[in-house]
Amino acid sequence: MRKPFVAGNWKMNTDSHSAVDLAKALVSGAADVAGISVDVAVCPPFVYLQAVTSAISTANIAVGAQDIYFEQKGAFTGEISTSMLKDVGCAYALCGHSERRHVLGETDELINKKVTAAISGGILPILCVGELLEEREAKKTSEVVTRQIKEGLAGLSAEKLSAVTLAYEPVWAIGTGLTATPDQAQEVHALIRKLIGELYDSKSAEEIRILYGGSAKPDNAAELMGQEDVDGLLVGGASLKADDFVAIIQAAV
Ligand code: PEP
Repeated sequence: MRKPFVAGNWKMNTDSHSAVDLAKALVSGAADVAGISVDVAVCPPFVYLQAVTSAISTANIAVGAQDIYFEQKGAFTGEISTSMLKDVGCAYALCGHSERRHVLGETDELINKKVTAAISGGILPILCVGELLEEREAKKTSEVVTRQIKEGLAGLSAEKLSAVTLAYEPVWAIGTGLTATPDQAQEVHALIRKLIGELYDSKSAEEIRILYGGSAKPDNAAELMGQEDVDGLLVGGASLKADDFVAIIQAAV
């Protein structure tokens, strides 16, 4: 039985005060279920990680980074390593979010290095995959997602895979208000789980958690998470409103 997992991606939003206020509001709204019947994580901007970690230290809410670099230290101006993330209490890191792929030009090869470095450094990667609108319209969803998963996980053993969460986020549904229908989400999640079975084994396929992301909100969360292969949600916009994010967390229970 896979435990549901709801993660919030705050992207480049909040400030030092509103980040802490939001974190505290989540603690009071979700402390009764977080970490017990549903795993919960929030991914604030790097500069607020430490403040958010302190604000939620009493709750079973984990903190994640929105990105990671694959080198440990040295002359990599502007980058953040796994050891730095661990040092400030981070448990998770998003790898290959669509905005990093499509706005910042990250390749599958780079994302694979990040996933690999995260695991080696004790950070749990959330590998994000998903097709563009034109790829869906050209019926290339399966091809694109298969390539992103194969290349993103290249070289990882089944043991290391157990540290990975996958997130299917159709790019056309991210921040657009368009949501994949539960059937559309389930179809791709099932395809991903089958692929993991082929690349690894049936145990890995059964155990890996696959989140859906793309305009998830309180009013569609339960139906999306009700799909057999949808194990939780990666939430952008709605994770910035404490009431909405708490409602989504409660919908996972
Ligand atoms: C995301 O950023 O991962 C995301 C799914 O955003 P939104 O919920 O705003 O579509």
